[in-house]
Amino acid sequence: MTTTQHPDIAIIGGGPAGLQAALTAGRVRRQVTVFDDGTYRNATVSHMHNVLTHDGTPPADFRAAARRELAAYDTVTVREERVATVERDGDAFRLTLAGGDVVTAYAVVLATGVRDELPPVPGLREVWGDLAAQCPLCHGFEFTGQRIGVVGAAAAGHLTGLLGPVAGEFVVFEEGQQVPEGVTLTAPVVAARMTAVERHGSGLRVTLDDGSTEDVAVLFVGPTLHQSAPFAEQLGLELNPSGAVRVDEFGRTSLPGVLAAGDMAHLAAFPMPMASVVMASAAGQLAASSAIAGLLQRA
Ligand SMILES: Cc1cc2nc3c(=O)[nH]c(=O)nc-3n(C[C@H](O)[C@H](O)[C@H](O)COP(=O)(O)OP(=O)(O)OC[C@H]3O[C@@H](n4cnc5c(N)ncnc54)[C@H](O)[C@@H]3O)c2cc1C
Repeated sequence: MTTTQHPDIAIIGGGPAGLQAALTAGRVRRQVTVFDDGTYRNATVSHMHNVLTHDGTPPADFRAAARRELAAYDTVTVREERVATVERDGDAFRLTLAGGDVVTAYAVVLATGVRDELPPVPGLREVWGDLAAQCPLCHGFEFTGQRIGVVGAAAAGHLTGLLGPVAGEFVVFEEGQQVPEGVTLTAPVVAARMTAVERHGSGLRVTLDDGSTEDVAVLFVGPTLHQSAPFAEQLGLELNPSGAVRVDEFGRTSLPGVLAAGDMAHLAAFPMPMASVVMASAAGQLAASSAIAGLLQRA
């Protein structure tokens, strides 16, 4: 075990939130270490959208470009390693890496993202990020005029409303859920349960438990979100009912010195975590600025 003494800021996460946080802190020459264990939420996405100047860019290219930009900043280090634990250590924080190394830092930016739990329909995981997705602003436009499937009646009113000008036609797979009171669905609803999803032509074929099939171009699915990393629990951070770490307008968590950004964090004023590359980058910048402000108060 080796102990590396003090980056000013440890950033856990090398997605858009963590990389932007590193850029911001690097530009005022703060000593920064970014930890990245290579598990990105959009790992299966071939082209991301709704990212100005990068509309259609493969997420891996975006991260590689960000890493190249960070290489120009001599105080920023990126370590491709998993952090196992984070704990308070006097007026600082102590990170223990999976390989046993220990790093201490005055501030920690958590940017560890979330993990999507999908409905247990065989085949769905295999097309996730490609022909199945959760975000109409990211993945709808490419299917303009086509038949769009919505999985789950509970959120179907919202999704069909958002995608109305995009879809040629909808089919809603009820999946045992109720349409909320006061919501009227105009799209056809299929009550039989989904038993399989497979590629069919350029789209998908959904098999149902009554033996019938439905062909769609794409499926919209509402996954259940889980924190990717155990640090919120280890540090006793307050969560919102969404399960995301509660942050204020400046990215501060309930524990001074610990900031959070990206999909894992949630400003309570928002109805849900605002999960996108641009929102994660913006939150990363804010969290780094707050971490720096905290360091200034120590001086
Ligand atoms: C199917 C799908 C499609 C999407 N398409 C789009 C799109 O087109 N446009 C768009 O704007 N958004 C899209 N998104 C949303 C986008 O992917 C996220 O909003 C964004 O990736 C969030 O960035 P982040 O930095 O918070 O987390 P992530 O990008 O998930 O990064 C998390 C980072 O934390 C690291 N990490 C986690 N735990 C540890 C640990 N213990 N130790 C070290 N490192 C750790 C990971 O390795 C990774 O580097 C999509 C999401 C999904 C699921």
